[in-house]
Amino acid sequence: MARKKTVQATTEVAITEKTNGKNGTLEHDGIGQLEKHAEVLELPMLPIRNTVLFPNVVTPLFVGREQSIKAIEEAMSKDRTLFVAMQLDEEVEDPGPDDMYAVGVEAVIDRILKMPDGTTSLLIHGQRRVRRLEYLQKTPFMCIRAEVVPDEIELTLALEALVRAVRALYEKCVKLSNTLSEEAIITAMNIDQPGWLADFIVSTLEVPLPARQNILEAFNVEERLQKTSILLSKELSILELESHIHDQVQQEVDKTQREYFLREQLKAIQRELGETDPAFRENFELHEKILSCGMPEEVKVRALKELERLNTMPSMAPDGGVVRTYLDWLVNIPWNTATVDQLEIATAASILAENHYGLEKVKERILEYIAVRKLSNTMRSPILCFVGPPGVGKTSLGRSIAAALNRKFVRLSLGGIHDEAEIRGHRRTYVGALPGRIIQTMKTAGTVNPLFVLDEIDKIGADFRGDPSAALLEVLDPEQNHAFSDHYLEVPYDLSRVIFLTTANVLHPVPAALRDRLEVIELPGYTEEEKLHIARQFLIPKQMIEHGLKPSRVEMSDEAVQRIIRDYTFEAGVRNLEREIATVMRKVARKVAEGRRTKTKVTAEKIADYLGPQKHYYGLAEEEDEAGIATGVAWTSAGGDLMTVEATLMEGKGNLTLTGQLGDVMKESAQAALSYARSRAGQLGAESRFYEKYDIHLHLPAGSIPKDGPSAGITMATALISALTKRAARRDVAMTGEITLRGRVLPVGGVKEKVLAAHRAGIKTFILPKRNMNDLVDVPQEVIKALRFVPVERMDDVIPVALHVLPFIKNEAEVVPVNAVKQASSRQLHAHSKLS
Ligand code: ADP
Repeated sequence: MARKKTVQATTEVAITEKTNGKNGTLEHDGIGQLEKHAEVLELPMLPIRNTVLFPNVVTPLFVGREQSIKAIEEAMSKDRTLFVAMQLDEEVEDPGPDDMYAVGVEAVIDRILKMPDGTTSLLIHGQRRVRRLEYLQKTPFMCIRAEVVPDEIELTLALEALVRAVRALYEKCVKLSNTLSEEAIITAMNIDQPGWLADFIVSTLEVPLPARQNILEAFNVEERLQKTSILLSKELSILELESHIHDQVQQEVDKTQREYFLREQLKAIQRELGETDPAFRENFELHEKILSCGMPEEVKVRALKELERLNTMPSMAPDGGVVRTYLDWLVNIPWNTATVDQLEIATAASILAENHYGLEKVKERILEYIAVRKLSNTMRSPILCFVGPPGVGKTSLGRSIAAALNRKFVRLSLGGIHDEAEIRGHRRTYVGALPGRIIQTMKTAGTVNPLFVLDEIDKIGADFRGDPSAALLEVLDPEQNHAFSDHYLEVPYDLSRVIFLTTANVLHPVPAALRDRLEVIELPGYTEEEKLHIARQFLIPKQMIEHGLKPSRVEMSDEAVQRIIRDYTFEAGVRNLEREIATVMRKVARKVAEGRRTKTKVTAEKIADYLGPQKHYYGLAEEEDEAGIATGVAWTSAGGDLMTVEATLMEGKGNLTLTGQLGDVMKESAQAALSYARSRAGQLGAESRFYEKYDIHLHLPAGSIPKDGPSAGITMATALISALTKRAARRDVAMTGEITLRGRVLPVGGVKEKVLAAHRAGIKTFILPKRNMNDLVDVPQEVIKALRFVPVERMDDVIPVALHVLPFIKNEAEVVPVNAVKQASSRQLHAHSKLS
């Protein structure tokens, strides 16, 4: 057991007196100047391995080794004092007497803390330099006898100079170092003992352990300071080199990195400013969007340039708004967002079947179209064009195709567009300029591959403002549309992934160049039977949902629907039918909302309560037969319509008056009819020289609607002959056909629509040019069955079918006075039509 025994070798303390060389005064230098004779201590030893403890330095230590803990316990049981020395080799786990440096420090344990993991944490305070003399004990911990080694010091000018030099060096080191704090300089300035100063400085530097031990073993203060100054110089050069390298690295950061760094900073600044300055925030957001919206490189370069321009403008500059709007457009139109096509034929077929009744041929064509797209992505699909009267489902078919393909659906109505700029946009120099409708619609779509319906392409017109169809050609042409140029955007826009569909009421106004690109699919209109089905399966359920009515609330009988079809609508499609059904549903919904609990049954008798008095009178065929009135059929953009021709004779000299807004072709056709009648007057049973006695007036109601085309030829001839012969014309016979001077009947267009219109109006017999019989293949079977078709080649074939055999008795007054001309028809024509 080692006992601490302080042996006072000598009590003599010699005081070295020195002059400081300045003014000859004597100075004491406290302990440093006392030369003591060796004091001998007996202490337990604490071996440490990764540091050197210096006198006057407080340091924390973590102790876990068995012998160390024992040594500490021994010290704690006495006066808390230990001999702390470093191991020669820090790798040695359980050091023995040969593993230790001989010089260490007498240290006092200031604080001791036992950790839960069994280790001990110490705060120890170095006291004096001590040199080991001998081992008193080796296990379980080492104990030594040692002598205290006092500092050897001689206060010379050289020492003073050394002290200053060391302080100055240290100050420089601290300033360059990242790890030393400024407080270290203050402490160093306040230490007035040179030996302590060296100890303190070395304890704060990152010097290798042997060098530290070397300082500890330097008992001579001057030598110690010298060594310290060498260490400091070395450290300083390292620090200087480090800082130099740092500077160099800083300089060598390449341009992009620097830019990146600056940009990040700029972003941070703008983000900060953004909270208060909306202009900054907007520009910042625009920049982000330009980078993220997927625009092609050339567009991006363009956009960034514009943004740069915007950034340099004062925030209130009037041009700023223009540039910002432009950039807004650029970042908000789709550049690479796309939907994934659904090309399963079965799925597409079921979607089409779910949404549309009938239209088998059309559906088949659409499925073929999808099939081709599935097999070949590269093949240029033709552009489909649905042609037919309003309300036959052209647009809604487009919608269904979009759903079947899983594409976005967008629609642009071309009706009334006269100006190319509407399609292509105005140049940016134009006040309030915007992109054209194509780009606007693409923005609405939000994807680069929507299904794009160009509605009513027959309604575009060209005038002095340019020809919109030229722009449309570019849109629809696969050779050009990958770089569609919009005047406003100024950068090309790729439309090649868009599927375009077009619709038209009639095809003939469509410019030929445009028509060439289209694959026409005709939707001629529905029969009453088909309308009934559509109403039952689609329109009524749809309107019930839209009006929030459940099937338990309302029921509509087929007769009621039929009555609406006959008495309240007169159309090829089902648009008005849908509207009238909506009116009924609205009224039922009101009753339900007012508290009606029973189910409302809408029957045919009650329809008038819902929809008011009958709007249309079904079938001219029900009217009385008269002389001078014949029934023709017109082809109108609304599908086809009956059209009466009235002929009247007045005393006169054979002048022909034509009224009812007839076009040139129709007028000539009337002349031809008259000439035919004159040339055949005898055979037909008319007065042979009637043209010397009478003026003739032909009128086609409704008078305000312009009409043209040759197809009313035989109807006008029939009306004329009927008036001349006083044989009444059958009102249940309708006819169409062009007439030649010699009474031949030539084929006409739009037969399908005309037949449907005649059927709708309750006509029983339909006279048509023989060569038009082929056109009947597309007419629904039920219509074919309901009508008697009379193919004719000559006018002579028409007369026996169209006119009664005997002169019309009732209308004996052979010449009707002008002011008594009876308005023959109560029917109104709906169409703004042209006869073909
Ligand atoms: P268009 O574009 O030919 O003028 P729409 O597509 O606008 O006609 O159709 C008008 C309405 O008629 C729509 O509500 C549509 O759903 C309905 N419709 C037209 N044809 C059919 C059909 N065959 N089956 C079901 N609904 C139809």
